[in-house]
Amino acid sequence: MNVDGVSCSWCDRAIERGDGWRLHELPGARRAAFCRLEHVVPWEIQGAHWEAVPPGEEEPEASGDITCAHCGEPLGDVTLRLVRHRGKHRIPDSFCSIGHLAAWAKAGGRWR
Ligand SMILES: [Zn+2]
Ligand SMILES: [Zn+2]
Repeated sequence: MNVDGVSCSWCDRAIERGDGWRLHELPGARRAAFCRLEHVVPWEIQGAHWEAVPPGEEEPEASGDITCAHCGEPLGDVTLRLVRHRGKHRIPDSFCSIGHLAAWAKAGGRWR
């Protein structure tokens, strides 16, 4: 059942609400979603095709992160926020750039 109507930005597989990964550019009106963290990598290599956030949909709250999860450098004005959905849990990480997000994903994310 695909309640959210979200599908993977890379392989187009439907993603359930309690599964997968959501990526937002903050501030910004672009987003992407992934069924598996590994799918961030080919998506980034192929030029990172974002989807426009529909009008009226709320931006996710700022995570409070001040550094990039990959390089540890302070985040700039525009950041990428990746949220893992696992059942009822939401596990956010922030990145300074798509390149670092992809490098982090390639390395296995949080659970390397
Ligand atoms: Zn996928
Ligand atoms: Zn970084």
